[in-house]
Amino acid sequence: MYLDAASKAKETIVMEIDASVLRKTPEVYEKWKDWQPSQISHHGRMCCEIAREWLTSQDFSESGGSSLQTGPRWLRQRFNWGASSFPIYWCEAVRKKTLDCGALAAFAHEVFTARGVKSYRIQLVQKFSQVATNQWTSSWNESDGLPLRWIDKDLIYHEGCAIAVGEREVKVWDASAGWWINANSGNGYGSLTAIRLSASDVGATFDWETHRLVSNQWQKIS
Ligand SMILES: [Zn+2]
Repeated sequence: MYLDAASKAKETIVMEIDASVLRKTPEVYEKWKDWQPSQISHHGRMCCEIAREWLTSQDFSESGGSSLQTGPRWLRQRFNWGASSFPIYWCEAVRKKTLDCGALAAFAHEVFTARGVKSYRIQLVQKFSQVATNQWTSSWNESDGLPLRWIDKDLIYHEGCAIAVGEREVKVWDASAGWWINANSGNGYGSLTAIRLSASDVGATFDWETHRLVSNQWQKIS
């Protein structure tokens, strides 16, 4: 009896030590690590096909003449950045006044792809401040009542897309802001803390300024 109890006590201690070793600080992308890039759904009918064609022909007329690698800034002028509910279909999305970063990134990806530019979906985590994220929580909730799954304390989940500009080099387009994201944004307000590039090539590597990105893996940036 005594020996049994003693060995059980010992086991408990060992388990406690193991648990404390395993209890690491969560990564900045922890909350979103299993999220996939947002998708625009297709009814499989003409309604959505026409909507998709509208997007690419609109891009052609808006950016006609400029380089194929020019960011489609017109998307942000056409659609406000705000809450979107998913699933969202092509035929609905093009009629919206407001789209979220995931839907805008999906549009930008479609536009680049239609231009023949190799594009990849990008997921990001950015650091703002608790004050800013609280403000978003209250303003977005007022308009839609959606729970803000994309906020975690002072961090926000964001989406964009990357385009190939060389053999392995990429640039990252923020479709909601309408600019190319600076790979070295420091530690301040709005700085990038983690990124994931989705590609069908598992383990492929891409160079983004000073960063080496491995496809389909979350990576800390700062
Ligand atoms: Zn449709």
